[in-house]
Amino acid sequence: MKHCRLCNNKTQLQESHVIPKFVFKWMKKTGTGRFRQLKVLDKPLQDGIKDFLLCDTCEKKLGKKEKWFKENFFEPFLNYSNTKFECNNELRVFAISILWRVLIYFKEDSNQYRFKNELDLAELEWRNFLNIGSTLNYFQSIHIAFIPEKLNIEGGGEYLYSYFHRAVDIEIVESNMKSFIYAKFSRFIFFGLIKGISDNTFKGTNIITSDILNPLDQEMDDADLVDFIINRSKNVKSYKDLSVNQQKQNDKYYEKRLDDIRGNDYWKTLMKDINK
Ligand SMILES: [Zn+2]
Repeated sequence: MKHCRLCNNKTQLQESHVIPKFVFKWMKKTGTGRFRQLKVLDKPLQDGIKDFLLCDTCEKKLGKKEKWFKENFFEPFLNYSNTKFECNNELRVFAISILWRVLIYFKEDSNQYRFKNELDLAELEWRNFLNIGSTLNYFQSIHIAFIPEKLNIEGGGEYLYSYFHRAVDIEIVESNMKSFIYAKFSRFIFFGLIKGISDNTFKGTNIITSDILNPLDQEMDDADLVDFIINRSKNVKSYKDLSVNQQKQNDKYYEKRLDDIRGNDYWKTLMKDINK
């Protein structure tokens, strides 16, 4: 029996997804049938990044918001390229629940963060917001970026499209002066500013102060934050980085699946990277 990280009740905890399960279902459906976590390429992740964080009640509560996001943002943007999205409390709860889970997930791995005090305060403020609807006072610079179909990024790596259109990536990002929480999946990026980055460097991405979001009318001008994201795309490891044994297993797997893969979203993304 452990304490639920959200409501603090002592109970049997559920194995929760840090990034919602529907994302991994989508990756399976539109991809190779399996996928890899960025940092641990050796280990195919069957079902995403998980941790025991929540009780059944809290898991269900957040699960409702995930379903809402899937129906109102994820599918309309990916399938129909909608250009108008309502920015309401459902979105705010969803976004903060993701960033809060990323924060908990990494903070517990005993990393020594430079801005540990701020991270602790943000964790508490976001937790109270999710739990009892408290107002946000200090950590309300929460953003969503929609990633366009056609990328125009200078200095992107070999796997630019694979990263920006499909990869799942989470992190607590820190430099000497700046800190933010980062969560990327499919063609969405969420980030919550912790320290040293001005809200004024963004246009059309803040989900707390905006009423309507238009994916075609967004700007991010913090050079460090943008550099971080582009650098992550360069870190997507390639086939060449696998051991010979892993390559063999990989080949066997893909030979069997090639006909299924060809033509789906994963394939198209791969072709964009190869033909760039
Ligand atoms: Zn709970």
